[in-house]
Amino acid sequence: MPESPNAFVTIERAAAFLRAGGLVALPTETVYGLGGNALDPVAVARIFAAKERPFFDPLIVHIPDIDWMPRVVSEFPQVAVQLAERFWPGPLTLVLPKVKSIPDLVTSGLPNVGVRIPDHNLTRQVLRLANVPVAAPSANPFGRLSPTTAEHVQAQLGDRIDAILDGGPCRVGIESTILQIVDNEVTLLRPGGISLEEIEALIGNVHHPVSTASDSPIAPGMLASHYAPQTPLTIVDKVPLSVESDRMGLLVLRNDATSPQFAQIEELSPTGDLVVAAANFFQALHRMDAAGLHEIIAVRFPDSGLGRALNDRLKRAEHRRSDRSSC
Ligand code: AMP
Ligand code: MG
Repeated sequence: MPESPNAFVTIERAAAFLRAGGLVALPTETVYGLGGNALDPVAVARIFAAKERPFFDPLIVHIPDIDWMPRVVSEFPQVAVQLAERFWPGPLTLVLPKVKSIPDLVTSGLPNVGVRIPDHNLTRQVLRLANVPVAAPSANPFGRLSPTTAEHVQAQLGDRIDAILDGGPCRVGIESTILQIVDNEVTLLRPGGISLEEIEALIGNVHHPVSTASDSPIAPGMLASHYAPQTPLTIVDKVPLSVESDRMGLLVLRNDATSPQFAQIEELSPTGDLVVAAANFFQALHRMDAAGLHEIIAVRFPDSGLGRALNDRLKRAEHRRSDRSSC
Protein backbone atom coordinates (compact mmCIF):
# COMPACT_ATOMS: atom_id res chain seq x y z
CA MET A 1 0.00 0.00 0.00
CA PRO A 2 1.47 3.33 -1.05
CA GLU A 3 2.38 6.20 1.25
CA SER A 4 2.01 9.83 0.27
CA PRO A 5 3.30 11.30 -2.05
CA ASN A 6 4.00 8.08 -4.05
CA ALA A 7 0.28 7.33 -4.09
CA PHE A 8 -0.15 10.03 -6.78
CA VAL A 9 0.29 8.46 -10.23
CA THR A 10 0.14 9.13 -13.99
CA ILE A 11 -2.81 8.11 -16.20
CA GLU A 12 -0.77 5.19 -17.59
CA ARG A 13 -0.01 3.83 -14.08
CA ALA A 14 -3.63 4.39 -13.04
CA ALA A 15 -4.86 2.37 -16.04
CA ALA A 16 -2.31 -0.41 -15.35
CA PHE A 17 -3.51 -0.71 -11.74
CA LEU A 18 -7.13 -0.95 -12.93
CA ARG A 19 -6.30 -3.63 -15.50
CA ALA A 20 -4.47 -5.61 -12.78
CA GLY A 21 -7.49 -5.57 -10.46
CA GLY A 22 -6.24 -2.69 -8.28
CA LEU A 23 -8.08 0.24 -6.74
CA VAL A 24 -7.45 3.77 -8.02
CA ALA A 25 -9.01 7.02 -6.81
CA LEU A 26 -10.09 8.98 -9.89
CA PRO A 27 -11.06 12.64 -10.25
CA THR A 28 -14.48 13.42 -11.71
CA GLU A 29 -16.47 16.65 -11.93
CA THR A 30 -18.73 15.51 -9.04
CA VAL A 31 -16.48 14.01 -6.35
CA TYR A 32 -13.41 11.70 -6.39
CA GLY A 33 -14.38 8.11 -7.18
CA LEU A 34 -12.77 4.89 -5.90
CA GLY A 35 -12.40 2.93 -9.13
CA GLY A 36 -12.01 -0.77 -9.82
CA ASN A 37 -12.61 -2.95 -12.90
CA ALA A 38 -16.42 -3.35 -13.03
CA LEU A 39 -16.09 -6.72 -14.80
CA ASP A 40 -13.82 -8.21 -12.11
CA PRO A 41 -15.82 -9.34 -9.05
CA VAL A 42 -12.68 -9.46 -6.89
CA ALA A 43 -11.77 -5.85 -7.70
CA VAL A 44 -15.38 -4.87 -6.99
CA ALA A 45 -15.29 -6.71 -3.65
CA ARG A 46 -12.10 -4.81 -2.76
CA ILE A 47 -13.96 -1.51 -3.32
CA PHE A 48 -16.63 -2.53 -0.79
CA ALA A 49 -13.95 -3.66 1.67
CA ALA A 50 -11.86 -0.46 1.38
CA LYS A 51 -14.92 1.74 1.93
CA GLU A 52 -16.53 -0.58 4.51
CA ARG A 53 -19.60 -0.19 2.33
CA PRO A 54 -22.52 -2.60 2.82
CA PHE A 55 -23.15 -4.94 -0.11
CA PHE A 56 -26.76 -3.75 -0.50
CA ASP A 57 -25.48 -0.40 -1.80
CA PRO A 58 -24.86 -0.72 -5.57
CA LEU A 59 -22.00 0.95 -7.46
CA ILE A 60 -22.14 3.32 -10.42
CA VAL A 61 -20.21 2.17 -13.51
CA HIS A 62 -18.15 4.73 -15.44
CA ILE A 63 -17.44 4.66 -19.17
CA PRO A 64 -15.51 7.15 -21.34
CA ASP A 65 -17.73 7.27 -24.44
CA ILE A 66 -21.35 6.65 -25.37
CA ASP A 67 -20.45 3.86 -27.81
CA TRP A 68 -19.39 1.75 -24.81
CA MET A 69 -23.05 1.51 -23.65
CA PRO A 70 -23.60 -2.00 -25.15
CA ARG A 71 -20.70 -3.25 -22.97
CA VAL A 72 -22.71 -2.31 -19.86
CA VAL A 73 -26.47 -2.18 -20.57
CA SER A 74 -28.79 -4.48 -22.50
CA GLU A 75 -31.31 -1.74 -23.35
CA PHE A 76 -30.74 1.90 -24.23
CA PRO A 77 -34.23 3.33 -24.85
CA GLN A 78 -34.76 6.54 -26.80
CA VAL A 79 -35.42 8.69 -23.73
CA ALA A 80 -32.12 7.53 -22.21
CA VAL A 81 -30.28 8.27 -25.47
CA GLN A 82 -31.79 11.77 -25.45
CA LEU A 83 -30.66 12.37 -21.85
CA ALA A 84 -27.19 10.93 -22.52
CA GLU A 85 -26.68 13.07 -25.63
CA ARG A 86 -27.70 16.21 -23.76
CA PHE A 87 -26.00 15.72 -20.38
CA TRP A 88 -22.98 13.41 -20.95
CA PRO A 89 -20.20 13.80 -20.13
CA GLY A 90 -21.71 15.13 -16.90
CA PRO A 91 -23.24 14.53 -13.47
CA LEU A 92 -26.17 12.33 -14.56
CA THR A 93 -26.36 8.59 -13.84
CA LEU A 94 -28.79 6.45 -15.83
CA VAL A 95 -30.02 3.21 -14.27
CA LEU A 96 -30.84 0.72 -17.07
CA PRO A 97 -31.08 -3.09 -17.51
CA LYS A 98 -27.58 -4.57 -17.24
CA VAL A 99 -25.70 -7.01 -19.45
CA LYS A 100 -24.78 -10.42 -17.95
CA SER A 101 -21.05 -9.62 -17.74
CA ILE A 102 -21.64 -6.96 -15.06
CA PRO A 103 -21.29 -8.95 -11.80
CA ASP A 104 -24.24 -8.99 -9.39
CA LEU A 105 -22.01 -7.49 -6.73
CA VAL A 106 -21.88 -4.23 -8.71
CA THR A 107 -25.68 -3.88 -8.72
CA SER A 108 -26.36 -5.50 -5.32
CA GLY A 109 -28.21 -8.25 -7.14
CA LEU A 110 -30.49 -5.87 -9.07
CA PRO A 111 -31.17 -6.47 -12.78
CA ASN A 112 -30.30 -2.80 -13.53
CA VAL A 113 -26.98 -0.97 -13.49
CA GLY A 114 -26.19 2.72 -12.92
CA VAL A 115 -23.90 4.16 -15.61
CA ARG A 116 -22.45 7.52 -16.53
CA ILE A 117 -19.69 9.32 -18.46
CA PRO A 118 -17.77 11.57 -16.06
CA ASP A 119 -16.82 15.03 -17.30
CA HIS A 120 -13.11 14.80 -16.56
CA ASN A 121 -10.62 14.33 -19.38
CA LEU A 122 -7.92 12.60 -17.30
CA THR A 123 -10.35 10.00 -16.02
CA ARG A 124 -11.89 9.40 -19.45
CA GLN A 125 -8.35 8.83 -20.79
CA VAL A 126 -7.66 6.35 -17.98
CA LEU A 127 -10.89 4.47 -18.80
CA ARG A 128 -9.94 4.24 -22.48
CA LEU A 129 -6.40 3.07 -21.65
CA ALA A 130 -7.66 0.50 -19.13
CA ASN A 131 -10.27 -0.54 -21.69
CA VAL A 132 -12.73 -1.74 -19.02
CA PRO A 133 -15.82 -0.11 -17.49
CA VAL A 134 -14.94 1.07 -14.00
CA ALA A 135 -17.16 0.80 -10.93
CA ALA A 136 -16.53 3.83 -8.73
CA PRO A 137 -18.39 4.96 -5.63
CA SER A 138 -17.17 8.09 -3.87
CA ALA A 139 -13.62 7.66 -2.53
CA ASN A 140 -14.48 7.98 1.17
CA PRO A 141 -15.25 5.55 3.98
CA PHE A 142 -18.95 4.65 3.88
CA GLY A 143 -21.27 7.34 5.22
CA ARG A 144 -18.53 9.98 5.60
CA LEU A 145 -18.04 13.27 3.75
CA SER A 146 -17.43 12.94 0.02
CA PRO A 147 -13.92 13.88 -1.17
CA THR A 148 -13.59 16.80 -3.59
CA THR A 149 -9.77 16.98 -3.62
CA ALA A 150 -7.00 14.35 -3.95
CA GLU A 151 -5.85 15.34 -0.44
CA HIS A 152 -9.27 14.43 1.01
CA VAL A 153 -8.85 10.96 -0.53
CA GLN A 154 -5.31 10.62 0.77
CA ALA A 155 -6.42 11.56 4.30
CA GLN A 156 -9.49 9.28 4.40
CA LEU A 157 -8.43 6.21 2.36
CA GLY A 158 -4.74 6.65 1.41
CA ASP A 159 -3.56 3.50 3.20
CA ARG A 160 -6.26 1.23 1.73
CA ILE A 161 -5.91 1.86 -2.02
CA ASP A 162 -3.26 1.39 -4.69
CA ALA A 163 -3.11 4.84 -6.28
CA ILE A 164 -4.62 8.30 -6.54
CA LEU A 165 -4.87 10.28 -9.79
CA ASP A 166 -4.76 13.96 -8.85
CA GLY A 167 -7.03 15.97 -11.14
CA GLY A 168 -7.42 19.04 -8.92
CA PRO A 169 -10.58 20.10 -7.05
CA CYS A 170 -13.91 18.82 -8.39
CA ARG A 171 -15.83 21.35 -10.51
CA VAL A 172 -19.42 20.42 -9.61
CA GLY A 173 -18.66 19.18 -6.09
CA ILE A 174 -21.81 17.14 -5.39
CA GLU A 175 -22.75 13.69 -6.64
CA SER A 176 -24.62 12.88 -9.84
CA THR A 177 -28.36 13.03 -10.29
CA ILE A 178 -29.63 9.44 -10.62
CA LEU A 179 -32.51 8.59 -12.98
CA GLN A 180 -33.85 5.06 -13.38
CA ILE A 181 -35.33 4.27 -16.79
CA VAL A 182 -37.07 0.94 -16.73
CA ASP A 183 -40.24 -0.14 -18.61
CA ASN A 184 -40.52 3.39 -20.06
CA GLU A 185 -40.89 4.93 -16.61
CA VAL A 186 -38.34 7.59 -15.61
CA THR A 187 -37.83 7.90 -11.84
CA LEU A 188 -35.57 10.30 -9.96
CA LEU A 189 -33.63 8.17 -7.46
CA ARG A 190 -31.29 10.91 -6.18
CA PRO A 191 -31.15 14.67 -6.80
CA GLY A 192 -27.65 15.81 -7.80
CA GLY A 193 -25.47 17.85 -10.12
CA ILE A 194 -28.05 18.17 -12.95
CA SER A 195 -31.23 19.87 -11.73
CA LEU A 196 -34.69 18.34 -12.07
CA GLU A 197 -35.75 21.51 -13.95
CA GLU A 198 -33.13 20.88 -16.68
CA ILE A 199 -34.17 17.24 -16.99
CA GLU A 200 -37.90 17.96 -17.15
CA ALA A 201 -37.30 20.73 -19.72
CA LEU A 202 -35.88 18.03 -22.00
CA ILE A 203 -38.11 14.98 -21.40
CA GLY A 204 -41.17 16.25 -19.52
CA ASN A 205 -42.38 15.14 -16.11
CA VAL A 206 -40.26 12.71 -14.14
CA HIS A 207 -41.67 10.47 -11.44
CA HIS A 208 -40.14 11.46 -8.11
CA PRO A 209 -40.84 10.34 -4.58
CA VAL A 210 -41.92 12.88 -1.96
CA SER A 211 -38.99 12.32 0.35
CA THR A 212 -35.46 11.41 -0.67
CA ALA A 213 -34.18 11.17 2.93
CA SER A 214 -36.20 8.58 4.77
CA ASP A 215 -35.56 5.38 6.67
CA SER A 216 -37.13 3.35 3.87
CA PRO A 217 -34.82 4.15 0.98
CA ILE A 218 -36.36 4.37 -2.49
CA ALA A 219 -33.12 3.18 -4.01
CA PRO A 220 -30.78 0.77 -2.31
CA GLY A 221 -28.11 2.71 -0.49
CA MET A 222 -30.20 5.87 -0.16
CA LEU A 223 -29.87 5.83 3.61
CA ALA A 224 -31.23 8.68 5.68
CA SER A 225 -27.81 9.16 7.22
CA HIS A 226 -25.12 9.70 4.61
CA TYR A 227 -22.57 12.26 3.47
CA ALA A 228 -22.14 13.09 7.14
CA PRO A 229 -19.54 15.21 8.93
CA GLN A 230 -18.32 13.97 12.33
CA THR A 231 -19.56 17.20 13.93
CA PRO A 232 -23.29 17.31 14.78
CA LEU A 233 -25.16 19.39 12.21
CA THR A 234 -28.48 21.19 12.63
CA ILE A 235 -30.53 22.69 9.78
CA VAL A 236 -32.24 26.05 10.33
CA ASP A 237 -34.37 28.30 8.10
CA LYS A 238 -32.41 31.45 8.85
CA VAL A 239 -29.28 32.52 10.72
CA PRO A 240 -30.05 32.39 14.48
CA LEU A 241 -29.95 35.62 16.48
CA SER A 242 -27.68 34.18 19.17
CA VAL A 243 -25.34 31.19 19.62
CA GLU A 244 -25.19 28.81 22.58
CA SER A 245 -21.41 28.28 22.69
CA ASP A 246 -18.26 29.83 21.28
CA ARG A 247 -17.51 26.65 19.28
CA MET A 248 -20.41 26.87 16.80
CA GLY A 249 -19.93 27.01 13.02
CA LEU A 250 -22.25 28.51 10.41
CA LEU A 251 -22.71 27.06 6.91
CA VAL A 252 -24.66 29.49 4.75
CA LEU A 253 -25.24 30.31 1.08
CA ARG A 254 -24.83 34.10 1.51
CA ASN A 255 -23.84 35.66 4.78
CA ASP A 256 -26.05 38.72 4.46
CA ALA A 257 -27.36 38.71 8.04
CA THR A 258 -25.39 40.21 10.92
CA SER A 259 -24.25 36.85 12.26
CA PRO A 260 -23.62 36.38 15.98
CA GLN A 261 -20.34 35.08 17.39
CA PHE A 262 -19.73 31.98 15.30
CA ALA A 263 -16.25 30.42 15.66
CA GLN A 264 -16.24 29.74 11.91
CA ILE A 265 -18.45 30.95 9.07
CA GLU A 266 -18.46 29.20 5.69
CA GLU A 267 -20.23 31.34 3.09
CA LEU A 268 -20.67 29.19 -0.01
CA SER A 269 -21.39 31.91 -2.56
CA PRO A 270 -21.40 35.67 -1.82
CA THR A 271 -23.63 36.18 -4.88
CA GLY A 272 -26.05 33.38 -3.88
CA ASP A 273 -25.10 31.22 -6.89
CA LEU A 274 -26.19 27.61 -6.16
CA VAL A 275 -23.75 26.15 -8.70
CA VAL A 276 -20.82 27.84 -6.95
CA ALA A 277 -22.27 26.74 -3.58
CA ALA A 278 -22.41 23.10 -4.72
CA ALA A 279 -18.76 23.26 -5.81
CA ASN A 280 -17.75 24.57 -2.35
CA PHE A 281 -20.13 22.47 -0.22
CA PHE A 282 -18.09 19.41 0.77
CA GLN A 283 -14.82 21.38 1.04
CA ALA A 284 -16.50 23.72 3.53
CA LEU A 285 -17.80 20.76 5.56
CA HIS A 286 -14.34 19.14 5.56
CA ARG A 287 -12.85 22.41 6.91
CA MET A 288 -15.54 22.68 9.58
CA ASP A 289 -15.05 19.05 10.62
CA ALA A 290 -11.32 19.73 11.08
CA ALA A 291 -11.94 22.83 13.22
CA GLY A 292 -13.08 21.06 16.41
CA LEU A 293 -16.51 22.72 16.51
CA HIS A 294 -19.27 21.58 18.89
CA GLU A 295 -21.96 21.99 16.27
CA ILE A 296 -22.52 23.13 12.68
CA ILE A 297 -25.58 25.31 12.05
CA ALA A 298 -26.56 24.99 8.38
CA VAL A 299 -29.05 27.37 6.78
CA ARG A 300 -31.45 25.63 4.38
CA PHE A 301 -30.90 26.39 0.68
CA PRO A 302 -33.63 27.63 -1.69
CA ASP A 303 -35.50 24.51 -2.88
CA SER A 304 -34.82 24.93 -6.60
CA GLY A 305 -32.04 24.06 -9.05
CA LEU A 306 -29.02 22.58 -7.28
CA GLY A 307 -30.48 23.79 -3.96
CA ARG A 308 -32.62 20.65 -3.97
CA ALA A 309 -29.53 18.40 -4.06
CA LEU A 310 -27.80 20.51 -1.40
CA ASN A 311 -30.84 20.31 0.94
CA ASP A 312 -30.91 16.54 0.36
CA ARG A 313 -27.24 16.31 1.48
CA LEU A 314 -27.95 18.53 4.53
CA LYS A 315 -30.86 16.31 5.60
CA ARG A 316 -28.63 13.24 5.48
CA ALA A 317 -25.84 15.03 7.38
CA GLU A 318 -28.29 16.15 10.09
CA HIS A 319 -29.81 12.69 10.42
CA ARG A 320 -26.51 11.32 11.69
CA ARG A 321 -27.27 12.96 15.07
CA SER A 322 -30.23 10.69 15.78
CA ASP A 323 -29.14 7.63 13.83
CA ARG A 324 -25.41 7.03 14.18
CA SER A 325 -25.92 3.29 13.87
CA SER A 326 -26.64 3.41 10.13
CA CYS A 327 -23.44 5.20 9.14
P1 AMP B 1 -22.36 6.81 -5.11
O1 AMP B 1 -22.27 6.45 -3.65
O2 AMP B 1 -22.29 8.27 -5.38
O3 AMP B 1 -21.46 6.00 -5.94
O4 AMP B 1 -23.82 6.42 -5.59
C1 AMP B 1 -24.27 5.14 -5.54
C2 AMP B 1 -25.74 5.20 -5.38
O5 AMP B 1 -26.34 5.11 -6.67
C3 AMP B 1 -26.26 4.03 -4.61
O6 AMP B 1 -26.22 4.30 -3.22
C4 AMP B 1 -27.68 3.87 -5.15
O7 AMP B 1 -28.56 4.70 -4.42
C5 AMP B 1 -27.57 4.39 -6.58
N1 AMP B 1 -27.46 3.28 -7.53
C6 AMP B 1 -26.34 2.80 -8.11
N2 AMP B 1 -26.62 1.75 -8.89
C7 AMP B 1 -27.95 1.55 -8.80
C8 AMP B 1 -28.84 0.58 -9.35
N3 AMP B 1 -28.41 -0.39 -10.13
N4 AMP B 1 -30.14 0.69 -9.03
C9 AMP B 1 -30.59 1.68 -8.22
N5 AMP B 1 -29.78 2.60 -7.65
C10 AMP B 1 -28.49 2.54 -7.93
MG1 MG C 1 -21.04 7.91 -1.75
